[in-house]
Amino acid sequence: MKKIGFTTTIPVEVIIAGDCLPVDLNNVFITSEKPYTYIEKAEEDGLPRNTCSWIKGIYTAVMNKSVDEVIGVVEGDCSNTHALMEIFRDNGIPVLSFAYPYGEKEKYALLKKQIEKLMLHFGLDWKILEKTVSRIDKIREKLIMLDNLTVEGYVNGFENHLWLVSSTDFNSNYIRFEKDLEQFLDEAKSRKRKDAKVRLGFIGVPTIFSDIYQFVEERDCAVVFNEVQRQFSIPYLEYDYVERFVRYTYPYDITYRLADIKKEIVKREIDGIIHYVQSFCYRQIQDVIFKKELDVPVITIEGNDPESIDARTKIRLESFIEMLIGKRGV
Ligand code: SF4
Repeated sequence: MKKIGFTTTIPVEVIIAGDCLPVDLNNVFITSEKPYTYIEKAEEDGLPRNTCSWIKGIYTAVMNKSVDEVIGVVEGDCSNTHALMEIFRDNGIPVLSFAYPYGEKEKYALLKKQIEKLMLHFGLDWKILEKTVSRIDKIREKLIMLDNLTVEGYVNGFENHLWLVSSTDFNSNYIRFEKDLEQFLDEAKSRKRKDAKVRLGFIGVPTIFSDIYQFVEERDCAVVFNEVQRQFSIPYLEYDYVERFVRYTYPYDITYRLADIKKEIVKREIDGIIHYVQSFCYRQIQDVIFKKELDVPVITIEGNDPESIDARTKIRLESFIEMLIGKRGV
């Protein structure tokens, strides 16, 4: 089966319906045994040191021939992807682009065209695609269940992060993914509910740190919201397929993300927000708006390489948690 790599969340059902294996290139990088070597190789090949590590990881994943083709999201994600696509093309790697339309006008129609462009590439019509969408919806329903169990205290924040972030490609095997998820949910439901002193949410791109969830959850905190990971799981099953990707907040104007985050803060009774930002990422600038607009305390944590959190970050997080505990009076 052909392996189709992609640079961020896309309508993955199109790849599955096209009888190909979806591969999220970020996951290839971060779940590899030595993600650091991906960064080293990219720098040895000439990628600037001050480029985001995720970009370097994606670069090496493709150059290591992990996939046969690449779908690059050239609008709505990362401007670095443009240059990456140029390098891949230059190396003879087949590349296809996908764009989330920025701006208000005709979003639905433009997005439908983009999805149909992918469908054409994989030789699909809407009838075939809808069949796969219905099948995959069963998995997406279970992911919503998992997210609800996180809010209720049966699934921890790291588990939530891992399952939701893996749903971009279902670990390239949706049947196995679903079985493992069912087993996990059965086990999680039988756990004793965990009540924590402080309820936290993560916003921003998924963290590159390997141990930040464990660090905060060991300090009587529960992470009950992973903003972008939840968006990656496309939790909008009540809408038609195109509309789901209109509602998906990550690729568009920050206003949509803000509205979603504000709603979830109230719904999930969140005391404080950890805004994770990646070094050399333009999204760091949005921190200004989050700090201004959100009604709960926000701490900004920056990461660069895939490693453990450093001492300074630990101290900052501890002070933040203590402040929140004090604020709650628990
Ligand atoms: S973290 Fe930022 S710079 Fe890095 S790939 Fe994602 S959007 Fe691009």
